Amino acid sequence: MIVKNILQAGHPLLRIKSKEASKIDVKMTKLVDNMVNTLKAQNLVGLAAPQIGFSLRIIVTEIRKTEIREVEETDELRIFINPKIIWSSKKEIVDYEGCGSVAEANLFAPVKRPEKIKVKALDKNGKPFELKAEGLLSKVIQHEIDHLDGILFVDKIADTKQIMGREEYLKRVKKTKPGG
Ligand SMILES: [Zn+2]
Repeated sequence: MIVKNILQAGHPLLRIKSKEASKIDVKMTKLVDNMVNTLKAQNLVGLAAPQIGFSLRIIVTEIRKTEIREVEETDELRIFINPKIIWSSKKEIVDYEGCGSVAEANLFAPVKRPEKIKVKALDKNGKPFELKAEGLLSKVIQHEIDHLDGILFVDKIADTKQIMGREEYLKRVKKTKPGG
């Protein structure tokens, strides 16, 4: 099993627009496997290919149950190749986010995003699908697609005075409602 290191903010690959994945071959399947392994090993809810050094439009998500995450928010492992948001709700919500590529800084901060989205993508066999997402999954998909466009959540912090370190974030989240 290959677990990749996650590139950290400052690495140029995290700041460029990733290319569309052209064909689903053995190489691509291997990349997706590595992404899934890395997602699980690093205990993340989402991962984009550029975060492990491949400038391709592929993201994976899996929302597992944790001490602070409620069961209703969990979601199965999903693979999105060439994902595109085809609809987003007018209603936006502000919620805390962190990122595997800003992990050294351990920053959590509020980001405003559309509450619900509809995304179109190919699955790992190259079959097209559409998915409507809300709640945590919607937020994770939007965060990961931003990575494909060279955007980090820190670019979108709604109020920099509300930035928290991981310890403070976990303390507060446990008392209130879970975020990301
Ligand atoms: Zn991220």
